[in-house]
Amino acid sequence: MLTAYCPNCQKKHEYVIRENLIENFKGYPLKVKEEIPICSNCNKEIFIPEVEEQNLIKLYGEYRKVANIVSPADLIDFRNRFNISQRELVAILNWGKMTVNRYEKGAIPSSSHNDLLKIIMKDEMIFKEKVEDAFKKGRITKKSYNKIKQKFNHSIKDMMKKLCIQSLTHTESEYNGYRKFDIDRVTNLIGYIADKVELYKTNLNKFLWYIDFENFKRQIRSITGIQYMRYTHGPVIEEFGYNEILNFFNDKFKVIETERGNNTITKIESNKNYDLSIFDDDEIKVINDVIAKFKDMSCIAISQRSHKEDAWKENSDKDLISYNYAMDLKENFSD
Ligand SMILES: [Zn+2]
Repeated sequence: MLTAYCPNCQKKHEYVIRENLIENFKGYPLKVKEEIPICSNCNKEIFIPEVEEQNLIKLYGEYRKVANIVSPADLIDFRNRFNISQRELVAILNWGKMTVNRYEKGAIPSSSHNDLLKIIMKDEMIFKEKVEDAFKKGRITKKSYNKIKQKFNHSIKDMMKKLCIQSLTHTESEYNGYRKFDIDRVTNLIGYIADKVELYKTNLNKFLWYIDFENFKRQIRSITGIQYMRYTHGPVIEEFGYNEILNFFNDKFKVIETERGNNTITKIESNKNYDLSIFDDDEIKVINDVIAKFKDMSCIAISQRSHKEDAWKENSDKDLISYNYAMDLKENFSD
């Protein structure tokens, strides 16, 4: 039996729960059942803090959903992402000392605060501006500023990585060799090739292209899911995506740039931490066959051989190259 002190009867009494449906809160339509304790003796409502607290949690939870209000968990995640304290966040946003603390404890943010939180959580560049501004105006220390800035560099890199993968990923078709772009396969493959041959930005594209096309010829599937386009010196990764891949996904290899005359030579060195277990035996055979054939050829020589391929001759610059051309490869890797 549930009992509580009834202020009306001025005595502890049994009570029952009556449910009340709330259909509107702060102008937003919603449906939340709140529980109201009723004294069994006088039939009047009794206020029980624990029950009321549960009602509010349910109501605020629903309200957050329908009104798109930042939740305490979102706010805490956001602070953790940039490794900033509640105090630092209020200083950056120039808000009252305890605001973030209250919001994280469940208080509903004012609508202008909520709008701003939504914006900075969605657009890091805007948050970055706020941080710069707070530092210039002396609201945060140099130490805080440097700490947060470092996180930005990381998160911007993460964003670029995501964009790069997005732009290179397409539904399976004859242009990606019926495989979705797979960055793990690409980086492990580059790490492996770089371990076996002198690899530069220029011959990288040809190695990848011949490996993918030779594999397609044998298995009707590419190894990496890369889409290639025809370009002056031979096939290259679509939209020159090798630049982003080399810049942002370099945990399996190092990129070393040296100036030679007016040219920048981009050499790729393996970190020797590649994992070939993501490829099957037939794929590894193709990879090794192509490496064996081109191992001692100069970038220019490989480029010239690629120009003999129908894939190169029959397409115009920047055209995507269909993997169907793999069936007519002039280069023979199986002998
Ligand atoms: Zn009563």
